[in-house]
Amino acid sequence: MSVLVFLDTAFPAGRVADASVPQLLATDLGATRGDGVFESMLAVDGHPRKLASHLARMAGSAAALRLEFPPPERWEPAIRTALAEFARVYGDQQAVVKLLLTRGPEGAGQPTAWVQASPVPPSAAEQRRTGLDVLLLDRGYDSTVAERAPWLLLGSKTLSYAVNMASIRYAHEHGADDVIFTSSDGLVLEGPTSTVVLAEVKDGVKTLLTPELESGILPGTTQSALFDAAAKSGWQLGYGPLQPDRLHQADGVWLVSSIRLLAPVRSIDGKAIPVSRELTAELAALVETVL
Ligand code: PLP
Repeated sequence: MSVLVFLDTAFPAGRVADASVPQLLATDLGATRGDGVFESMLAVDGHPRKLASHLARMAGSAAALRLEFPPPERWEPAIRTALAEFARVYGDQQAVVKLLLTRGPEGAGQPTAWVQASPVPPSAAEQRRTGLDVLLLDRGYDSTVAERAPWLLLGSKTLSYAVNMASIRYAHEHGADDVIFTSSDGLVLEGPTSTVVLAEVKDGVKTLLTPELESGILPGTTQSALFDAAAKSGWQLGYGPLQPDRLHQADGVWLVSSIRLLAPVRSIDGKAIPVSRELTAELAALVETVL
């Protein structure tokens, strides 16, 4: 069962709510239109990781939807309350902390905002350990559309994730675990819930690469923190455009995200790619340093 804490001006530390009974109005535009934004982060020992980065990205997503964003001073006490309640129920295990903000009930003109804390699903650790078979799937947009068509909200983390979830179901139905989206002009984009990172090692020089943000992908907080940590330990950094053959030629490809952290890709469209235990261990250790 999840822990829920609503942002509510009458409750400075947030209002704890019972997740086993309905809490949203059926007319909430987050439910009826997916009109809202969210974040998911990992909490370890009661502390949410990369909280400032998640709040900053959520503020950007809310601005793209012209949605009023409660300031960090309102989210932070609610997150503390949720994690204290989570610890009371689940002890010291890690938590998934979701922040949610919707346009609120139809006609109310008042956003709905809440924090949800839940146990980490076992699939996260499993994917880290076993790796992933992925399919390349066309997202149907070209890599320049984000700038031309801001109303598509590419690069924002909106509640409209039905397409992302459908792509993962498609992968499962076709014998794979996950997806890497490509643009209609043939560039590598991102996973439905992750950022793509690849390593190239040449003449002793190690380079980490990821697709460029201009192609309409979500700015990943894990990728960004990993790149900062990698640069400090001597890695070169590079940003797309990347064509799919770069994935096949790389010395390693990973999907990275806040909950799963870093999972190696072991095949793309049924074709095995190299999985380096050493590089995976090195990058996983760098991700672990991100607090
Ligand atoms: N890209 C998409 C589309 C995502 O949904 C996510 C996270 O859920 C990511 C990338 C990875 O972002 P982060 O590392 O901040 O979790």
